[in-house]
Amino acid sequence: MSHACGCDSHATTRRPLLSVQEAQDILADQARCLVGTETVPLAEAQGRTLAEFITAPIAIPPHDNSAMDGYGLNSQDLARGLTFPVSQRVAAGQVPERLLPGSCVRIFTGAPIPEGVDVVVPQERVTRLADGGVQVPAGLQPGGNIRLAGEDVRAGALLLQTGARLEGAEIGLLASQGIPAVPVRQRLRVQVLTTGDELVQPGQPLQPGQIYNSNQYTLMAALQRLGCDVSCRHWVADSFDNTREALAAAADQAHLVISTGGVSVGEEDHVRSAVAELGEVRFWGVAMKPGKPFTFGQVLDTPFIGLPGNPMAALVTFEVLVIDYVRRLMGRQTRPLMHFPVESGFTRERTTPRQEYLRVRLDCADFEPVAHLAGSQSSGVLSVATLADGYLVVAPNQPVVKGERYGFIPRPQLYF
Ligand code: AMP
Ligand code: MG
Repeated sequence: MSHACGCDSHATTRRPLLSVQEAQDILADQARCLVGTETVPLAEAQGRTLAEFITAPIAIPPHDNSAMDGYGLNSQDLARGLTFPVSQRVAAGQVPERLLPGSCVRIFTGAPIPEGVDVVVPQERVTRLADGGVQVPAGLQPGGNIRLAGEDVRAGALLLQTGARLEGAEIGLLASQGIPAVPVRQRLRVQVLTTGDELVQPGQPLQPGQIYNSNQYTLMAALQRLGCDVSCRHWVADSFDNTREALAAAADQAHLVISTGGVSVGEEDHVRSAVAELGEVRFWGVAMKPGKPFTFGQVLDTPFIGLPGNPMAALVTFEVLVIDYVRRLMGRQTRPLMHFPVESGFTRERTTPRQEYLRVRLDCADFEPVAHLAGSQSSGVLSVATLADGYLVVAPNQPVVKGERYGFIPRPQLYF
């Protein structure tokens, strides 16, 4: 009889399952950066991982400059009165002359500050006089509206850390330093294998008993978002020989192999035994819900991750356990998952001995967000994931009580 349902009562192992934290610790401990480096122009750097730290070749800003459109003067001249003739006009990109004593300069945002000027008065605050001069308000302080050379970045300062993910801000910062290309990590090659005799590719007609292969596309998209080079062996039949062959071929071509399905305890589940024959199963089973049959090991010399077949379980385990591991294989900086307390808007008496990752949406109408179940919490239900802002984490054997706070993991940040 097949016990592929993943429920606790059908577990065939007697040893306790690993906790989520234990599984995360093992994965982190085993992970090594597997990819080399290459240099890419900034225009192609989006989403890539910086392979070296970068220090600033120049100061930003490179020269003192005006923060406003207005008039620049020397504050010591204010002792002689508040009216000034305009002796010079300086726009951004121009090289100014020294300030003529007792005068002011017409100056624009970004223009270099002439020697002798120590304050800029915004143009809205001056009165233009008939003779072409200006009257400025009393009480001006030196330094006002002047951006000092190096106040953003000092020359030689650390600009970006090794392993930083390059997004708009990071790429813009590199451009501001005049850096045209950067050393980045090569893409991690990931092979996704989806197992199951019942699976059909979208676009094909569905015969009785068949379902469309969704896991392949969920994982492909998620891995691509992380910056991986993903390829998929569309279908692996539920036989030991076929599974072993597919795993060996995938391991030969990829830095990482990820499978879905076939890792439960049913007679149709061949992944674990095939992995054990080709390499090693480091652990099977994590006390999380959904996602119990999560498997980690290696096929030949290639790391292997076996995700559950149930589509929501595959996605939760990918997001909670695999993303951080993939980041490490890619040479990416890691950081603990952002996790903050959020009030529950519902009560759930049913408890489970596994740590639960409830798919919730946040109601933000009031000042404090409140979590509500986004839909069915069955491990086979994927549609809820399109509505869920994140996971409400419920500790083993704990009920959920309306009004109490639980750890909330926002999903969008997971892909950073
Ligand atoms: P398994 O772990 O292979 O027993 O699969 C558990 C459940 O997930 C079964 O209902 C499978 O039909 C379903 N399933 C497995 N793989 C996929 C897939 N690639 N896409 C959609 N559903 C799947
Ligand atoms: Mg199956």
